[in-house]
Amino acid sequence: MQLLNPDIVRVEPRTLGENIAAFSLDVETDYATGRDEALSQIERFIGLMAELQVPWTAFVEGRFFETRRPLCRLLLDRGVDVQLHCYDHGEPGDTPAALERSAAVYEDFCGRKPAGYRAHTYRLTQSIFETLRRLGFQWDSSLMRAYAQGGNRHPKFLQGDYLIFDGQLHEFPIATWKGLPVALNHTHVLLAKRPGELVLRSLFGPTRLVTYNFHMTDLVRCSSLRAARRTPTVRLLHRYLWSTHRGDTFDVARRFVRFLRARQYHFLSTNALFERVRSAGDRRDLTGNAQLG
Ligand SMILES: [Zn+2]
Repeated sequence: MQLLNPDIVRVEPRTLGENIAAFSLDVETDYATGRDEALSQIERFIGLMAELQVPWTAFVEGRFFETRRPLCRLLLDRGVDVQLHCYDHGEPGDTPAALERSAAVYEDFCGRKPAGYRAHTYRLTQSIFETLRRLGFQWDSSLMRAYAQGGNRHPKFLQGDYLIFDGQLHEFPIATWKGLPVALNHTHVLLAKRPGELVLRSLFGPTRLVTYNFHMTDLVRCSSLRAARRTPTVRLLHRYLWSTHRGDTFDVARRFVRFLRARQYHFLSTNALFERVRSAGDRRDLTGNAQLG
């Protein structure tokens, strides 16, 4: 599996003129087991984001537009920005055919083409990139610039708040702490535990664009982990992650939203962020910085 290669693809870094947080949920079965003990509680997450007044993006497994249509309907009815995740999380990642099928069933269900995509385990491969371009996707939010699963730390990918590939596809990478290649998403905030989070906040702080993602299995405790095919290390990390929480981690999400608000972050769905930077024309001033109008 060849990750995106910046020697083949033209990479243009772009800078935002303000602090923006783009929250998302990767909508998939629990730990790719096919179980839905956590997934079936998605309405609680919808309620949490509504309570916090945070717009967000759902990256939905493509097959759900065939097999879990009431769930997809619920997301659309609640005004969530619905985009595509991989077709089937039980597979190691999308083939061009799988991605094509996802796009087709999405369009059939939603009545429009998908604009954005998130790859399985953040692995944006050369083949997926080419397929996204061919199918007319406008943006992607997969690139993992941290040392983590799916990490792609080529120096050309490490610049800018976001990137444009081949002058066409906007890339909004998963956040890291400023100057520290540790992922800044719900899984990693939970692994840091509260004292670690406070240290990371004060020593590093968030970058201008915080692309922060959740999984239902990070949000609510469930027993699906027992059925998950995981390496012993990952299994241990999941146990550790849950060791200081009872039924859910909603308070950690509330605390992080409060922290970003206090730092004047604007909350946008990823598609709204894309529309915003596109309408600003990804303008660059003489220093190479894009300014949002
Ligand atoms: Zn996923």
